[in-house]
This record gives sequence, C-alpha cells and structure tokens, in this order.
Amino acid sequence: MTDIAKNIEIIEERVDASAKKTGRRRSDITIVAVSKTVDAYAVEQAVKAGMRDFGENYVQEYLKKREVLNDTLNWHIIGPLQSNKVKYILDGVCLLHSLDRLSLAQEIERQCENKGTQISALVQLNIGKEPTKSGIYEEDLQCFIQDASVMRRIRLKGLMAIPPAAFQADDNRPYFEKLRRLFDRCKAEYPEFEYLSMGMSDDFEAAIEEGSNVVRIGTAVFGARSN
Ligand SMILES: *Cc1c(COP(=O)(O)O)cnc(C)c1O
Repeated sequence: MTDIAKNIEIIEERVDASAKKTGRRRSDITIVAVSKTVDAYAVEQAVKAGMRDFGENYVQEYLKKREVLNDTLNWHIIGPLQSNKVKYILDGVCLLHSLDRLSLAQEIERQCENKGTQISALVQLNIGKEPTKSGIYEEDLQCFIQDASVMRRIRLKGLMAIPPAAFQADDNRPYFEKLRRLFDRCKAEYPEFEYLSMGMSDDFEAAIEEGSNVVRIGTAVFGARSN
C-alpha cells in the first residue's frame, strides 16, 4: 500500500521547489490529483492530505465517485470525451481539459444552451502529432480557437497537452517550451487564457520549470495503477 499522505507531501515540496526556480510559489500551481481507477477511499485520503482538485478520464467513474464524496471538491475531466457523455459533465465539472475537436465544442455549446449553463475548457493540443493521441495540431490552433471562442457557453481558459512518452523527464522540455510559447501567444490575444495544463508524474518538475501552472499527477499520488 502506498502512503498517499506521504506521497503528497513529497509532491508539494517538489512543486514548490520547481515553482521557485521560475519566481513563482506553490500556490501559483494547481495540482490535479489524477484519480482514475482508484477508489473513493483513496480520494478521501488525498483530500485529508490537502488535495482539492481531482482529474478523471471516464465519465461513469467520475459520476460514481462524485456521488459518494462531498461536493466541495474540484473535478476535472482530462480524458477524451465522447459527445454522448457531454450531458453528464455540465453541472459538476470545474474544468474540461480535453476539448479536442470542433464537433465536441458544438455539442457542448448546444447542451449548455439547453441547460442554461456554461463550462470552462482547455484546448487539447496533440503537440507530438501522435496518431494514438487526440488533440488539435499546432498549426490549426488559431483557427480552432477562433471558431470555439464565438461559442458563448464555452469559456476557453488555456491549453492542455500530453507530450510523447519520454525516457527521461528532460526529454520533453522542448515540447513544454513550445507549448509555453503557444500559450503566451494565445494569452496575448485572449486575456481569459489562464491555465497551461502540462506535466504528469514523471515530468511535472520540467513542465513547471518551462511554465506549466496545472500539473496532472496520478501515479506519484496514488501509486501504480493496476488497470
Ligand atoms: C492518467 C493521466 C495522467 C496522470 O498520469 P500519471 O503518469 O499517472 O501521473 C495525466 N493526464 C492524463 C490526460 C491522463 O490520462
């Protein structure tokens, strides 16, 4: 059994140290504890250790956990979202990290209109142009943001990306740096841009040092996933 409280303590220290290297503090970075496949009890342990933000990949799993945990937590959807699942995430999700296609944006806009609600979302980039990953290509980003930003129910808040699997944490620095540049360029045009979501268990320090302010950390918080 992994000691979740201890894991979080170590992550907090590492996040703080990386943030300081760029003149920021721990409080400038949001740690999203990725709780996919772990049970509600483990999430409770993380809450006790100070975590408030949780990331889920699967809508059904998110709904189940949300039901048994209290409502003051911030839930993030970070995995690919099917259009037929949109209706389940409009009420309780604080940030959708995986807005990756225009048809999804249109469905969200339509459903939000019906419900009289809004949602905050990050545009997911496929920064390594990997066929196995979803996301917008860099060269299509301007166009995509233009199209999505006219949708009045979707508040675009920034960018998210998962760089290609690396052998060492530093291998992804060029991707993180590129993402940071894209983010800064978007932010100049869209002041609502606030979040750059990049960095996971194996590379969050490098990501923070290159400018990330949202890291999504699963394994390092909850231990290795069995499925
Ligand atoms: C699973 C997952 C993570 C967390 O990965 P770890 O390596 O376990 O930290 C982060 N982001 C996304 C989109 C994921 O699917």
